[in-house]
Amino acid sequence: MDLGIGGRRALVCAASKGLGRGCAQALAAAGVDVTIVARAEADLRSTAEAIEARTGRRVQWVAADITTPQGRAAALARCPDPDILVNNAGGPPPGNFRDWDRDAWIRALDANMLTPIELIRATVDGMIARSFGRIVNITSAAVKAPIDVLGLSNGARSGLTGFVAGIARDVARHNVTINNLLPGPFETDRLRSMVAARAVAAGQSFDAALQAGRDANPTGRFGTADEFGAACAFLCSVHAGFIVGQNLLLDGGAYPGTF
Ligand code: NAD
Repeated sequence: MDLGIGGRRALVCAASKGLGRGCAQALAAAGVDVTIVARAEADLRSTAEAIEARTGRRVQWVAADITTPQGRAAALARCPDPDILVNNAGGPPPGNFRDWDRDAWIRALDANMLTPIELIRATVDGMIARSFGRIVNITSAAVKAPIDVLGLSNGARSGLTGFVAGIARDVARHNVTINNLLPGPFETDRLRSMVAARAVAAGQSFDAALQAGRDANPTGRFGTADEFGAACAFLCSVHAGFIVGQNLLLDGGAYPGTF
């Protein structure tokens, strides 16, 4: 399917690895001029080269911490006026809420709520002026079904979700859509580090804990970053202009509800 976004510009945050990389890869494959952001230059460079080799598109990169004002300014300087914005950042650490002080909460809110809101604020009016915009926020299945040890994530991402629900309706008449993608278990570095912590707590080997995670999913496996990227690229396509303010769960059917 031609996604109809060839030649559009995309800023994809936290994209040297994992789900962000999957989104950047799928957008580049659709002919989009992609700029990727992450903190480590070496990873970014090799990811940009790998995507270029697979898609034949030139990929720009910016080494920056997207959760800081300076990092966001650097990203927007390299990719001013994106038509497509994929908001993403590292997830907060797991833990017990009794141990989280105000600083821990502010870090989580900065990364997983205020950073996407700031980037939306910086880019949405340009999208409105050009009568095309697609914003996808990578949140988490934890927004729909909270995970006890990820209270920082549950809280910060729910704040973003509430905000997006309001403004998505406000900008939709300008052909600007804002939606959230809610990943369940995708096999990335982040998932592997969470599984490693769970294995230690349960006195299990890492491989046994990994397999238990796969077995627990209705599909019998974890999702892949390529699958996640393909869903993101479709949401960014010309065909998805009527999908507005939605929270799309990609979890292999792990959430057991009818809706
Ligand atoms: P990952 O660890 O595989 O990749 C994270 C990427 O973000 C890397 O490229 C890293 O360099 C970059 N990054 C992290 N912090 C950054 C920052 N401050 N500034 C710029 N770049 C930064 O993680 P992932 O699995 O792809 O997860 C992406 C997001 O999705 C996270 O917020 C995670 O919590 C969430 N999530 C993931 C899963 C899963 O199963 N993988 C499930 C639910 C939610």
